[in-house]
Amino acid sequence: MTTELGLPTLRGAPSRAPGRPDDTRLVDGFGRVATDLRISLTDRCNLRCTYCMPAEGLDWMPRDEQLTDAELNRLIALAVREFGISELRFTGGEPLLRKGLENVLSAAAALEPRPDISLTTNGIGLARRADALAAAGVNRLNVSMDTLRAERFAEITRRDRLQDVLDGLAAAHAAGLRPVKINTVLLRGVNDDEAPDLLEFALEHGYQLRFIEQMPLDAQHGWRRSEMITAGEILERLEERFVLTESDEDRGGAPAEKFLVERRLDGTNIGTAGPEVVGVIASVTRPFCGSCDRTRLTADGQVRTCLFATGETDLRAMLRGGATDAEIADTWRAAMWGKKAGHGIDDPGFLQPARPMSAIGG
Ligand code: SAM
Ligand code: SF4
Repeated sequence: MTTELGLPTLRGAPSRAPGRPDDTRLVDGFGRVATDLRISLTDRCNLRCTYCMPAEGLDWMPRDEQLTDAELNRLIALAVREFGISELRFTGGEPLLRKGLENVLSAAAALEPRPDISLTTNGIGLARRADALAAAGVNRLNVSMDTLRAERFAEITRRDRLQDVLDGLAAAHAAGLRPVKINTVLLRGVNDDEAPDLLEFALEHGYQLRFIEQMPLDAQHGWRRSEMITAGEILERLEERFVLTESDEDRGGAPAEKFLVERRLDGTNIGTAGPEVVGVIASVTRPFCGSCDRTRLTADGQVRTCLFATGETDLRAMLRGGATDAEIADTWRAAMWGKKAGHGIDDPGFLQPARPMSAIGG
């Protein structure tokens, strides 16, 4: 069942798409194959990042609309077994707020073939959860942190919790999760002078820093292209202190362009054992849609082909209506077959999706 948001549900839409080859994987009409499943575990959050949601929060999804652990486990198992999904990323909202998180992770980690499991979190509460997450099967963690200054952190997230995030990062590292990545969004006039300091911090602690261009996915629709900090500007700011060279490693479907941090401009060495890298995810100015390998599942069981998709496919209704695994798999395949070539942010008719990033799963 596919819904073009804002339009009536297309009941009885065919689940076998015309022209689709007989392939069990999630292929699309442009030759891409999705092997990476992004799962939103909840739309709730304990921070209120200004570029993500308003101060008062959002109307959270009613609990009964959210997939249960059993429903989620069934869809994840199906994705791994039927489509060959090899990477699972759990996100939200804030995934650490999901009750029973470790149970969902353990069930995913027990699947054969064992998928690679990662989690994107704001780091609140991570300090006391890191060991349990590693034990449940998480391989890698991304922690979002936009500043090293407590006052700025409170301004950006509307909560005074920087120390929690720093403690969470340290605990993740101590729990053996590698690499621990930091996701940073730079905002003009707020924290855009901090790029070199954040890289210095990451190098010092053995974390991997990645900058993400701000995207038009905030609930308030406040994004302006003219105000966003571009990848070009991010690199310029880093190059005020560091010598960077573009990594020649094959990126595959990875969103981040990687740069090797060779040395500081003042001649001092980086002082770590191996080559250090910094990543830039330039979703807006250098889109990587042509090599996208993702499929997405929202906390209420909707398949999305893209962060920017304006339509969704309802697997929860199928789960609750008694559909078989084969029927659900066919519907998921048909949805992905219709994935668009690109996100179209630059198209004159671009429409921001109705769901904000926090409800899609970033
Ligand atoms: N709450 C978790 C967190 O913050 O890591 C997971 C969900 S959050 C939506 C995932 C990532 O999306 C974070 O790194 C956040 O900074 C980023 N993000 C949120 N809104 C964004 C936007 N409008 N543009 C670019 N990145 C955004
Ligand atoms: Fe919450 Fe993550 Fe959005 Fe910040 S970016 S408000 S931490 S969901």
